[in-house]
Amino acid sequence: MKRKTGQDRSITQTWRPATKAIRGGTARSEYGETSEALFLTSGYAYDCAGDAAARFAGEQVGMTYSRLQNPTVEMLEERIALLEGAEACRSMATGMAAMTAVLLCQLQTGDHLVGGRAAFGSCRWLTDTLLPRFGIATTVVDARDPQAFLDAVRPETKVFFFETPANPTMDVVDLKAVCDIARERGITTVVDNAFATPALQRPMEFGADVTAYSATKMMDGQGRVLAGAVCGTKDFIDNTLLPFTRNTGPTLSPFNAWVVMKGLETLDLRIRRQSENALKVATFLEGRVPRVLCPFLPSHPQHDLAVAQMDAGGPIFALEVDGGRAQAHALLDALALIDISNNIGDSRSLMTHPASTTHASVAEEKRREMGIGEGMLRLNIGLEDPQDVIDDLDQALAAAGL
Ligand SMILES: *Cc1c(COP(=O)(O)O)cnc(C)c1O
Repeated sequence: MKRKTGQDRSITQTWRPATKAIRGGTARSEYGETSEALFLTSGYAYDCAGDAAARFAGEQVGMTYSRLQNPTVEMLEERIALLEGAEACRSMATGMAAMTAVLLCQLQTGDHLVGGRAAFGSCRWLTDTLLPRFGIATTVVDARDPQAFLDAVRPETKVFFFETPANPTMDVVDLKAVCDIARERGITTVVDNAFATPALQRPMEFGADVTAYSATKMMDGQGRVLAGAVCGTKDFIDNTLLPFTRNTGPTLSPFNAWVVMKGLETLDLRIRRQSENALKVATFLEGRVPRVLCPFLPSHPQHDLAVAQMDAGGPIFALEVDGGRAQAHALLDALALIDISNNIGDSRSLMTHPASTTHASVAEEKRREMGIGEGMLRLNIGLEDPQDVIDDLDQALAAAGL
């Protein structure tokens, strides 16, 4: 593999984001292929037994096994790290594999974590069920209020863990304020940045230590593969995360890594157009439904903060109807173009009822506390002509009595 300019950080990190997204991390084989090669291999052969021994001893550069290293996967990791402005990145099989690894690799019995209350359902399962099972105490707070993090801090607090904007309430967290609180106390801040991606928001610029991703969402962007990633300092990735992941094996498949790498080439284009489309659709809905929760609409209570932290609003927002689950389901059932689907980040417009899908496993009283009512619907606006999406919603709203 020739690394040319693609892997030389002193050059690649000076590139602008669009260039990083296309060329970052590229390493060419002896064939000089322009599109990155897909190395579907689980193992590697050695020229002699001494080479194998030297590689295992860490005395020879090279790969040993695809749970640990793979050329295609490493290209993707370097590309994500560059886009994030992070020293290092490790990809994972799924977003949840990334979230689980990033927490378990650094926490142990007796430690304490403060998490955001509004979060992806499985992330809440980690904070509420998995971590306490191992004697790791957790407190969930209203992450919109930095003071709530400060109030929850204990001497044994090791990690702050939250999403912004959060799934599906679109709560926004003040990154700088919360990261400052953590920094002063030696607490590691882990931000789940799946909704915005590094194309719209780079939490490390505000002081976050670690970002974690479901790359299944906007990074792939076309609803094809599951993937995840964790970005941080080289020290964190090599010495805290890697010992955990090398031995537990939440490794991303080279095929999925290749698909996500191709997705990154168009991430910036897609997310900006989808953000524009989403704002058009949200503006239409604002006159038609009781509440629209969209950080880039001036009506959102955290609009100024969202605009200060994010380059655009992203493709996802939520709305609320007053007729509860029955009316929300009626609206979904009347859709003709938009799919009923709990996925997000796809180039197709998708809509779901969080209380009966993504957050069905969260107890009803916890859902209420998180701000997820029975009348809430979450939308992912795709790359279709936004007027067709608006027309579809217009007729479905009428069919649901709105
Ligand atoms: C989807 C999602 C996850 C989980 O990612 P998977 O790739 O589905 O495992 C975690 N956090 C957020 C905010 C998500 O949207």
